[in-house]
Amino acid sequence: MTTSRTRLFCLVGDPVDHSVSPEIFTRAFEACGVDAAYLAFRVPSRCLGEAVAGIRALGISGFNVTIPHKIAVMRHLDAVEGAAKEIGAVNVVKVEGGRSVGYNTDGEGALRALSGRRLSGRRVAILGYGGAARAVAFSIASSQRPEEIIISGRDPAKAMGLAQRLGALFGVKSTPSSLDGLGKALPDVLINATPLGMAPWVEEMPVDRDVLREGMVVFDLVYNPAETKLLGEAKAKGCIAIGGLEMLVGQAAAAFEIWTGIDAPLGEMRRAAEEALKVRGGSGA
Ligand code: NAP
Repeated sequence: MTTSRTRLFCLVGDPVDHSVSPEIFTRAFEACGVDAAYLAFRVPSRCLGEAVAGIRALGISGFNVTIPHKIAVMRHLDAVEGAAKEIGAVNVVKVEGGRSVGYNTDGEGALRALSGRRLSGRRVAILGYGGAARAVAFSIASSQRPEEIIISGRDPAKAMGLAQRLGALFGVKSTPSSLDGLGKALPDVLINATPLGMAPWVEEMPVDRDVLREGMVVFDLVYNPAETKLLGEAKAKGCIAIGGLEMLVGQAAAAFEIWTGIDAPLGEMRRAAEEALKVRGGSGA
């Protein structure tokens, strides 16, 4: 039951109607006995500044940020935490005493999804150089000591830009590669951070199936469908296939912990995400 003491958290994005974050956080608050509610607000880009000011004025305790506001929101915040500043995108904001601080938990979500898989001393290929790719790459480069990070995408200049940034910031060996040239790089771990595999691209693979080798870890950030074409092919080739759901839950768990200071109820959050995706389909965190 909501009361006059109930804290409010929300999602700000456009669109938001397919997001499963309300279900994930509502279940987490219930499981931990936190008196809080979570709503999704569709905010067009032209209203973002007003929305953030309104959130502060209303005393809303925190919010998630999704497409297309992850970069634009930063200029409306009082502070951006170190990793989010380096990544250049914010997906979680905590508001305390009227002060808004931005964080990025996508990288931590990805590391949670990859936990138990050795990344140190291995060649990790990341497909894409957008917001999620940057978060994943920065988290791996800063904490996992990979032998090499290969950034692959259809625009060589953008792939080179991210590879150079990783090298400069973390001293990690990082190289750009075309999507066609990836097979020659022989990655041990392959991470898809492009939307290929989700609707309307469900029949598409971000790389040729020849790149896949037995024993390779293949992690697809796409979580709807739960098994993308890439993951289906990876399983058929004897790879270790990991879907995007664990990252979705992991980034939400990290947000919950930032907001509440309580260990996130991962199992409950995962079940809520699975149920919500089954019922309504999801396309945004
Ligand atoms: P983004 O910032 O828009 O980046 C998209 C990336 O995909 C860019 O590198 C883009 O390259 C590339 N791309 C787009 N269309 C492509 C195509 N047809 N062929 C090849 N490359 C293409 O998006 P994002 O926020 O990083 O999200 C990327 C994916 O990760 C989405 O599917 C999103 O749902 C998923 N994601 C999942 C989670 C999770 O928790 N599981 C969290 C965040 C994101 P160009 O610049 O060349 O177009």
